[in-house]
Amino acid sequence: MNSRRIYLDHASTTPLDPLVLEAMLPFFNEEFGNPHSQHRCGQKAIRAIDRVRSRFAHMFSVSTDEVIFTSGATESNNLALKGILFNEKPGQKNQLLISSIEHPSVFETAHRLKQMGFGVERIHCGREGVIDLDDLQKKISDHTRLVSIMTVNNEIGTIEPIHAIGKLLAEINADRSKKNLPQIFFHTDASQALAFLPIDFQKLKIDLCSVSSHKIYGPKGIGALIAKRYIRFQKQMDGGPQERQKRAGTLNVPAIAGFGKALDIVTERRRRDSKRIQKLRDDCIAKLELNINDFILLGPRGEQRIANNVNGFVKGLHAAALMISLDLQGFAVSVGTACSSGDVKSSRVLSALHHPLNPKLSLRITLGRSTKDNDIDRFVKTLRKIVAFQKR
Ligand code: PMP
Repeated sequence: MNSRRIYLDHASTTPLDPLVLEAMLPFFNEEFGNPHSQHRCGQKAIRAIDRVRSRFAHMFSVSTDEVIFTSGATESNNLALKGILFNEKPGQKNQLLISSIEHPSVFETAHRLKQMGFGVERIHCGREGVIDLDDLQKKISDHTRLVSIMTVNNEIGTIEPIHAIGKLLAEINADRSKKNLPQIFFHTDASQALAFLPIDFQKLKIDLCSVSSHKIYGPKGIGALIAKRYIRFQKQMDGGPQERQKRAGTLNVPAIAGFGKALDIVTERRRRDSKRIQKLRDDCIAKLELNINDFILLGPRGEQRIANNVNGFVKGLHAAALMISLDLQGFAVSVGTACSSGDVKSSRVLSALHHPLNPKLSLRITLGRSTKDNDIDRFVKTLRKIVAFQKR
């Protein structure tokens, strides 16, 4: 990428860490074996995968047989939701609860399940995207099988109260086991969280969690579904017995080696990176509010917002037009949703917030390891000029 360009779209994807690339390279040539082969070439590959699996098990406080490698968080979310609901017959007696601001890989999967006849309900969120726990409690019924709430929203950066939801569900489950009712499982999509927040299954009382490598400076096309061993799944692809019958297909050895290295690095740097980036984020918000007339921040402030997310709109201006002008000036940021034809639609997440100004789209600025202090100054100055020009 041109060195003058400033990349402020880390929620979309992150650049590959050079150490991650180094960890991947041997598995493209010297160690090319199929990890499912019995000979030595295969054994070298499976040993490398086992090492990564152990690292994952340690970091998430689960066992190694609870780590399922997938092609990314989209597949993990599909596997979690469909895998569990497909154990049951379609019908309102088998219910899934999601938040109203989930990523499309959960939202559209839930929509598909609803079309098939399953009971699907959305839990309301407040103005800042925080899930309404009273609404969740109201919507849980004897028919609820699965609750899926994202750890961090990918557009406005809200950190959801996963710990409180886990605690609530554990209490409800304790009561249900006395009545011989099936347990409610709790899934969280932690794709946007992993770079800044550790995910501990025991502390959070979750049963399943989706993660993606390319959000933590690892390669694209690899992710994991971490799922407790007591969960029965209907697998979503027919094929070989890989991943203990839960996900068929030859494992992507170089990508898994890279994902493992990325997780090691993120764990080691997390505290430092979070502190520095959160300071830059708050600096960016303060400067936008000070220098740009009519800039309105979306999402929460402070601790309830993920460290790298800034999201807002300028009253009277189209966020997509701002994004394009910024791109021309060398800044990569994103707007809510862009459909495949390139037409920019309104954001489903923003409309779920019921903001009084009813923004259709907003600018999302997401910082990362490469973001420097003066990048923020340059960004705000450039946006200020663009806004002044577009408001003439
Ligand atoms: N969930 C969330 C919250 C995300 O931000 C993303 C990536 N935009 C995904 C799921 C999908 O991840 P992947 O690209 O690995 O399929």
